[in-house]
Amino acid sequence: MAFKKENFYIETFGCQMNEFDSERISAILEKQGYLKTENRENAGLIILNTCSVRLKAENKLFGHIGNLKVLKEQNPGLVICIGGCTAQSLKEKLIDTFPYIDIVFGTGNIENLSDLIKTRATSSKSICKTSGNPEEIKELIDFKRKFPFKAFIPVMTGCDNYCSYCIVPYVRGHEKSIKPATIIDSIKKLAADGVFEVTLLGQNVNSYGQSFGHNVEAEDAALKNANSFAKLLNEIAAIQGIKRIRFMTSHPKDFTEDIINAVRDNSNVMGHIHLPFQSGSDKILEMMNRKYTSKEYEDLFYKMKERIPDCSVTTDIIVGFPGEQEEDFNKTLELVRKLKFSRAFTFLYSSRKGTKAEAFYDPVPIVEKKKWFKQLLDTQNAISLAENEKMTGKVFEALVESESTKKSGRLEGRLENNTIVNFDGPKGLTGSFINLEITQAHPFYLSGKIAEHK
Ligand code: SF4
Repeated sequence: MAFKKENFYIETFGCQMNEFDSERISAILEKQGYLKTENRENAGLIILNTCSVRLKAENKLFGHIGNLKVLKEQNPGLVICIGGCTAQSLKEKLIDTFPYIDIVFGTGNIENLSDLIKTRATSSKSICKTSGNPEEIKELIDFKRKFPFKAFIPVMTGCDNYCSYCIVPYVRGHEKSIKPATIIDSIKKLAADGVFEVTLLGQNVNSYGQSFGHNVEAEDAALKNANSFAKLLNEIAAIQGIKRIRFMTSHPKDFTEDIINAVRDNSNVMGHIHLPFQSGSDKILEMMNRKYTSKEYEDLFYKMKERIPDCSVTTDIIVGFPGEQEEDFNKTLELVRKLKFSRAFTFLYSSRKGTKAEAFYDPVPIVEKKKWFKQLLDTQNAISLAENEKMTGKVFEALVESESTKKSGRLEGRLENNTIVNFDGPKGLTGSFINLEITQAHPFYLSGKIAEHK
């Protein structure tokens, strides 16, 4: 196979951590002289950074890989690389199913991708390398970002929670916090470079710091008990130039009062908390290994609302978990009606290979689960619309992020509570703060206009 520096095309599936990984991959390749292209047909190197959390996403990915076969036939020199969680979990099986894949690389092999590409150029066989350490992120900031004014910053990698339906701990490894000095220095450099919004990433950011002291290094041991997510938030909030701080994802069992207070007390920590509850049934929560009850979740929710009244809370809910009966589902529905989340991301349960729940008895027919799912979706959409309607006629500060994806000629701004507002305005406003009057509510976004006065 001939090897030359090529245009590369990268497509990301899944969560913000995957988006961050894609930014790292792009930076590593660009340093090696590759040029990024947004057009797959022009690329000599195609990378799919994959997600295996849900079966639907994985099936969609397989469709994408299948479509690449034609491109490979037209251009046998095309190099196809599959990375991310699906690569980490399926390994060689991906090459067995799609023999035209050149490289399968794991979540811990990103740093070596350009070496793997060089090796593939002189080898007649496809390469599968998934043995790297997923905890090792060498570089937090030194790459081009999609938006010059905002950045993702991982504060930890991996997860130790082992929710029974989730593949993440198996593909991303044990939880490991990144040292506070590394995070703070990185954000200071970003601020000096014009970034004013940071989103702190981790599978469970609330347990930041708990993994320090798990090994014998003196420096690591000294960090134990001296760090928490609340402390980290307070320190980042004090960095000059950082105007917006977001974080995700949270786990109810680790969301301490200190974290609530840090959100309340720092005006640049945004009043939006994504707090997955997954089920309103304690029986199902226990089977999911979530380590909280619906009452504990509810108490936490009200504590947040009491201390941060304008805070919006969004959530994730799984419908049709193995063993879930109608009475369990009704408890979920009841909690949704009671708590009135600003938005909920609802998922129909899909079994993932290698998880505990894969072996659970699952007698409820899929048609019944789909009926529940629709009921939940209709209920939550009506709530989201009603919550958004409370904002109409009012004026809010928004960060103008980009042109609208909904309608050409419109711009998209993001409110503190993470709601998107579409409005008319000149493109030059991108990257600036503006006051918007909300003119119309929709379930998932708002329409607005530039306000004369706040
Ligand atoms: S907290 Fe649970 S759902 Fe989230 S990544 Fe960890 S195991 Fe998966």
